[in-house]
Amino acid sequence: MESTQKTGSRPAPAFGPGVADEAGGRFLEGRKALVTGAASGIGRACAQVFATAGATVYVVDRAAEAAKRVAEEIGGSAHVVDLSDLDSVDTLPADADIVINNAGLQHIAPIHEFPPARFALIQRVMVEAPFRILRRTLPHMYAQGWGRVINISSVHGLRASAYKSAYVTAKHALEGLSKAAALEGAAYGVTSNCVNPGYVRTPLVEEQIATQALAHGIPPAEVVDKVMLERTALKRLIEPEEVAQAALWLCSAHTGYLTGASLPLDGGWSAS
Ligand code: NAD
Repeated sequence: MESTQKTGSRPAPAFGPGVADEAGGRFLEGRKALVTGAASGIGRACAQVFATAGATVYVVDRAAEAAKRVAEEIGGSAHVVDLSDLDSVDTLPADADIVINNAGLQHIAPIHEFPPARFALIQRVMVEAPFRILRRTLPHMYAQGWGRVINISSVHGLRASAYKSAYVTAKHALEGLSKAAALEGAAYGVTSNCVNPGYVRTPLVEEQIATQALAHGIPPAEVVDKVMLERTALKRLIEPEEVAQAALWLCSAHTGYLTGASLPLDGGWSAS
């Protein structure tokens, strides 16, 4: 494998095919983007936004029908895999130029009542699977001297909340993996960053609203205003497409120096 490491005195690396067309909107023409959890929510929005920018998208999800539907809509390919089965993860395409580690799940319970199997499952899907996917795809990115790793973390990658121990642990671990990938990938034109949304309007959050309404004994609308957005300056949920557009920006011609970072899209939550 050829290293494309640049020293300080050398020019910045070429941006690669298609990037010059950014103004035209299809600047990812010729690129392949692997998106996990692409059948729903943020992952689906990423699949749509990246396909619109010209990328060929590998739609990875365990929800077979929904994954096929998204792949069909955007002209991508569906890869139906349960990411908790790490041997199956190792069968995913290795030639992605862009990886979006997005699939995730939540479980709400105090630590002393948290089911250990659920805790382990969350680490497998949200930490080990991303590691396996990077292990598999980085050689291709390194060989061509360009790649983008985007980890959909969370404000919970930077801050904790009670009763979400497995999720908070997994997101903090993903932050670590992302930074290590940034350091290792720098010599090869590969950047790695996290995107850290607050509450996004997706099925995962709709579920939490229902669970928390029960737990707190209040109506769902009050859960959003008084529980979820308590520490958030902007009093609204963020839309999946806003997260997808931030991920797309991390692949643009002007963000090649941005690596090892965590981009809060949290309406001011982490500023408080
Ligand atoms: P979602 O529930 O709408 O979609 C998650 C997708 O992941 C689903 O299609 C599901 O089938 C898939 N998935 C889950 N487990 C899987 C497995 N074992 N194998 C294969 N696919 C699997 O969720 P979302 O809200 O779009 O969340 C996506 C990511 O964004 C998650 O990592 C989540 O932690 C993160 N995030 C979400 C929010 C939010 O408020 N929704 C906030 C911050 C971060």
